[in-house]
Amino acid sequence: MAEQKRDYYEVLGVAKNADEAAIKKAYRVLAKKYHPDTNPGDAEAERKFKEASEAYAVLSDPEKRRQYDQFGHAAFDGSGGAGGFDFSNMDMGDIFGSFGDIFGEFFGGGSRRSSNGPMKGASLRTSVRISFEEAVFGCEKELELVLKDECKTCHGTGAKPGTSPETCPKCGGKGKVVYTQQSLFGMVQNVQTCPECSGSGKVVKEKCASCHGTGYIAGKKRIKVSIPAGIDNGQSVRIREKGEPGINGGPRGDLLVEVLVSSHPIFQRQDMNIYSTAPISFAQATLGGEIRINTVDGEVLYEVKPGTQTDTKIRLKGKGVPSLRNASVRGDHYVTLVVQVPTGLNEQAKQTLRQFDELAGNTLKAQSVSSQPKTKKKKGFMDKLKETLDDN
Ligand SMILES: [Zn+2]
Ligand SMILES: [Zn+2]
Repeated sequence: MAEQKRDYYEVLGVAKNADEAAIKKAYRVLAKKYHPDTNPGDAEAERKFKEASEAYAVLSDPEKRRQYDQFGHAAFDGSGGAGGFDFSNMDMGDIFGSFGDIFGEFFGGGSRRSSNGPMKGASLRTSVRISFEEAVFGCEKELELVLKDECKTCHGTGAKPGTSPETCPKCGGKGKVVYTQQSLFGMVQNVQTCPECSGSGKVVKEKCASCHGTGYIAGKKRIKVSIPAGIDNGQSVRIREKGEPGINGGPRGDLLVEVLVSSHPIFQRQDMNIYSTAPISFAQATLGGEIRINTVDGEVLYEVKPGTQTDTKIRLKGKGVPSLRNASVRGDHYVTLVVQVPTGLNEQAKQTLRQFDELAGNTLKAQSVSSQPKTKKKKGFMDKLKETLDDN
C-alpha cells in the first residue's frame, strides 16, 4: 500500500474551488462510467470507481473537505488524529450504503447494501470554547457529555433477560422491505428500511426493563480532548469511537468537537499571523529607543528606529501561530506602531515643548525650503525667481 494517493480534486477532475453541484456532477459521470454493473469483472474499473467514490465522500462533506484542503490525505490517515478514510479495501456494499441517495437517483435504488451486518454508529457533534492562547499553543479539555452505552442487563439486545429478539415478521430479518410500483418506465422496485424493526431485522417481544427495550443506557461521561496547537475558530477535532454506539456489533461512531476560539483583547489573528498595535511615545518615535511589545510568547524588546512615523508596521518573525501540520513552523506577528500624542502636560513640560517646537519648527522650515526645488511641485513666483537667481 505504498502507492501514492491521487489528489481528490484531480480524481474528480474538478477545480479546487468547485462548488457542491460541480463535485456531484463530476462524480456521477465517473461513477456511471466505472460502475461495477456496467464493467463486470473489470478490476481496474472497480479501482477507479472506488477512487472516485472516496474522493466524493470527502469533497461532498463540507467538514471533511475543509480538513482535506488543510491537511491533504494526512487528514484521514489516522496519524493526524482524524478518522481513517480509505475506500480501497472497502466492500462495494458499504460504498453503496454511504451514497444511497446519489445512486438511488440514477440506478433506481437497486444497489443498496443489505443493512443487517455490523454498522458503525452515527457521529456525535459537540463544541468547546477555548481562549486565544489555548488555540495558539494547544490544550487539553475535558468535556462532559451524555453518551449512550450498551445496556448491561440485556447486552444491547433490548430483550428481557431470558428472552431474545425474534426475527422481524415483516421483513423476514432482512431489515428492508421492497415495494413494487408501476411507473411510466415500467415496474419500479423501491427498497425501504423496514418500519417494523427500523432495519435491525429483529423485534423484541418482551422488553428489557433497564433500557425499555432500546438496548442502550444514556449516562454522563467525561471525555478528554486534546486540541492541537494552531487550531482556528470553527475547526473540529475528531475523537474516534466516542459517538453513538454501533449497530449489530459495529464500532461506535466518532465524536466531532467543534472548537470555538474566544477573541483576545489585544491580538487579532488571521490564519497563522497575529496582528496588534503598540503605542510609542512621541519622544521614542522621534529619537528611537527600546520598547516592550506583548506577544503570545510574552514581552519582547524591540528597537524603534529614530524618526519612526505613526502606523509603521513591523514584523516579529516566528511570533505568530504554529502550523497545524508542523508545530515548529510558526506564522509572524505584525505590530502597528502608534505614536501617542501627549496630553495633560504640566506647565514646565508645555514650556519645554514650545521651545522644542520653535527649534524644530525652524529646522523643519529650513528643510522644506531646501527640498522644494527637488520636488518641482507648484512653484510659486518667488521660487522661480530664486531659481533664476541661483542659476546665475
Ligand atoms: Zn436492556
Ligand atoms: Zn423488519
